[in-house]
Parts: sequence; C-alpha cells; structure tokens
Amino acid sequence: MERTYIQDLRSAVDQTVQIKGWLQTLRDQKKLQFLILRDPTGLVQVTHWKPNDEALAEQISKLGTESALTITGKVVDNPVVKLGGLEIQLESLCVENTAEIPLPFDPFADSLPVLDFRLDWRYLDLRRPVNNLLFRVETTVENAMRTYWTQNNFIEIHSPKLTGSPSESGAELFSLDYFDTKAYLAQSPQFYKQMAMAAGFERICEIGPVFRADPSFTARHMTEFTGVDAEISWIDSHEDVMRSEEAMLHDVYQTVKEKHGDEIKSLFGTEIVVPELPFPRIPMREVIEILKGRGYTLPADKKGDIDPGGEREIAAYVKEKFNHDFVFVTDWPVSARPFYHMRKEDDPNLTKSFDLIANGLEITTGAQREHRPDILAKQALEKGLHLEPIQYYLDFFRYGCPPHGGYGMGLSRLMMVMLGMNNIREAVYIFRGPTRLMP
Ligand code: ATP
Repeated sequence: MERTYIQDLRSAVDQTVQIKGWLQTLRDQKKLQFLILRDPTGLVQVTHWKPNDEALAEQISKLGTESALTITGKVVDNPVVKLGGLEIQLESLCVENTAEIPLPFDPFADSLPVLDFRLDWRYLDLRRPVNNLLFRVETTVENAMRTYWTQNNFIEIHSPKLTGSPSESGAELFSLDYFDTKAYLAQSPQFYKQMAMAAGFERICEIGPVFRADPSFTARHMTEFTGVDAEISWIDSHEDVMRSEEAMLHDVYQTVKEKHGDEIKSLFGTEIVVPELPFPRIPMREVIEILKGRGYTLPADKKGDIDPGGEREIAAYVKEKFNHDFVFVTDWPVSARPFYHMRKEDDPNLTKSFDLIANGLEITTGAQREHRPDILAKQALEKGLHLEPIQYYLDFFRYGCPPHGGYGMGLSRLMMVMLGMNNIREAVYIFRGPTRLMP
C-alpha cells in the first residue's frame, strides 16, 4: 500500500490508508487507546479499541513516545476530534524503530532543556516543527538565490576548501597535516572567486563551507559556517555589487513570503517583510555622526569598525527614518578593511566597500577589489603581509583581469534575521564552535 501523508487524509475518508511517522503522544484508557501520530505534514489521532486485539493493545501500551511507526487503518470523519475532525481506526501497526524510555528530553514538552543540552541531542531537537520549517525555508532561500543568479547569468563554482596558503592573514586559520606538508582550511573563497574573474567568468556565485579558528563564544559566530558568495566583473564601483545583492535578497524574501509566509508567522511569530529597493545606504563617516547624535560611542579599539551595539543602534535609526530593515554601511576606513579592498579615488583613507546590516546584525561584507597588481602588492605590504605566500594570488592580476567586486554573506546569519532568531546555534543544522565538535 502506498503511503498517505497526514495533510491528505481528508480526501481519504472511508478508505483504508497507510501512514508513517512518530508517536507523539499515547493516551492509554481502559478500553481505548489514542495514538497521536506525527509526520512532516501534520498530526492525526489514531484510535484502537482494545478488545479488538488484546495482544496489539499490550504492544501499544509499551510503546515509547517518538517511536517510528507504520500504521494502517480506516479514515473516519469525526467532527469531535480536534485534529482535523477525523481519526484513523487502527487495523495494523508496524513498529519500525522503538524509542527507548525515557527520552533524553521530550521535544514536545511545554518547557525545553537548555540549548547546549538540546544540541547534544540535535536530531530530537530537529523533530520540532519549528526546526523542520527552518530548514525547509533555508532550502527555499538557497533555491531562490540560485534562481536569481542563473537568471542573471552567474556561473556557480565550488572552490577548494583545502589550501596551501592562508587567504588573508594567518589569524583564524585551521591547519592540518597534509602528507608531508601543512594545509589550511579555507577561511573564505575570496581569492578563488577573484580567480574566476581573471578566468573571464564575469559573474560567479558559490554556496559553500567556510572555516574560521575564531575562539569567540558569541551568538553569531561559528568555526564552520556556510558562506554565500558572489563576484561580478566590469563594475564601476561597489555600488554595482550592492545593487546585485539587494536585488537577489529582494527576490529571496519575496519567494519565502509567498511559499512560507503564513507558516513562519504562526511558528516563529515573524512577519516576512519583502525589503523595498533600493536599500538605504549610509557612508561609515555619517554612521559615526548618527551614532554620536544618539548617544552611542564606538569602542576605540575597533579601528573604525562598528561593534554589535552600534549595528543595532544604526538599524534602529534606519527603521525610524526609512522604515527599512536593511542598511548598507559604505566607504569603510582602510584600517578596518583587508588589503584587497579598492581605495576611493577621492579619499585614499576610505575603501570602496560596504557591510550589509539586517535587523541590526551584520550579514555581509562586500567591496570593489583592487585589480591593479602593483597597487595591490603595495597595499598588502602596508598591512604587514609577506608577498611570497600570496604571489599566486597577485599573479591573477597580471594577464588581463577586469575590474570586479563581490560580497560574502553568512547563510545562517541570514536565516537568523529572516526568522527572528537570536542565536546562530539554533539557526544552523549542526553547530560547530570552539568547544563543540560533536555530534
Ligand atoms: P564579524 O565582524 O561578524 O566577525 P567578519 O567581518 O569577520 O564578521 P567577513 O569575513 O566579512 O565577516 O565574512 C562575511 C560574512 O560571513 C559576515 O558578514 C557574516 O555574515 C558571515 N560570517 C563571518 N564570520 C562568521 C562566523 N564566524 N560564523 C558565522 N558567520 C560568519
């Protein structure tokens, strides 16, 4: 018999069906047993009249909740039943996999254990519908990104994650034994994205893993995350990069709203607002003035960077002034940017770069890149880098590389802001941090 999904039971009234799922609750009464079964599409009540089959009744009595079951039975209309006004009268049951008693924790209890404990038992935590929705939305997000990119002639690449030299500085770098030498895990696809520009690919995108040996324990950092990257050629400035990113995000939000808006509202309590184009843009210099005006002083040790408190404050300003959830902070000082960001022609202390802040959280860094090898080498030296390890990268710009720029975004950070979650550990399938390598 073919499997019927719970959401389709209404059209199967009076028929015998087979459903597959997890035992969410069991109510064992004197004569009757009620099993609430869950599949990815919903919940249904299954009833068993004990005198019909005492042996089966006994088997059911011993079942642990969250056991994986296949059930056959007749669908009957019953307006009294809260779950969809129908129930299934049990005919046979196959226990595919019992859940041991007790569960490490009940994912459907009113109060849940602390996050760290839930991460130890992540597969149980992921059984909660809110988590199932999260990853269905993430799938839609990635599909919508790829749809935007393919409609706009981007080529998707998969750059290597094992590298022979650090892509930026030696900081935040994982190294590993590689036969009789050392290899590093890629901290970003930066150099390889740019190599694609030297290869004449003109527009590329990549969704792939990024590794950072960052020992911090914040609610927005992981040691391994999924990066969303794009790079485009023949640009005039970072403005072209921002335009490409905001158009992509606009499409992503629109698709998510159409497909999951109602579910997101009911499970996350978050309204998906499709951001209007263009997103507001504020140069960093002005941001500092605005923050000052609002009584917020940036910490001096940030070298011209914004701290998380500043990100939230500028987002609050943008919300009040433009009623927008996104803001591009542009034209960052050289001190806060890597050597490969192009500097402004009219102010060499500033770079042609931006960060995108969404609902008060940085989700993207982007820039026009310096594609003139002599200037690039000079900027690298100024930042204290040695040229020899990055010579292969500098070579990309020796034989006809067009002006270009791009951006890098954290997928889980986007999911956090989109769904209104406040900890990245909950927004990612499996969290990796300085003290978490398992499961
Ligand atoms: P932050 O200032 O928040 O540490 P960053 O400036 O180091 O971020 P970039 O190197 O510019 O970040 O990376 C681009 C994007 O990748 C960031 O905007 C963010 O969305 C994401 N990202 C960076 N580091 C992490 C991390 N450790 N965990 C999750 N996402 C990250």
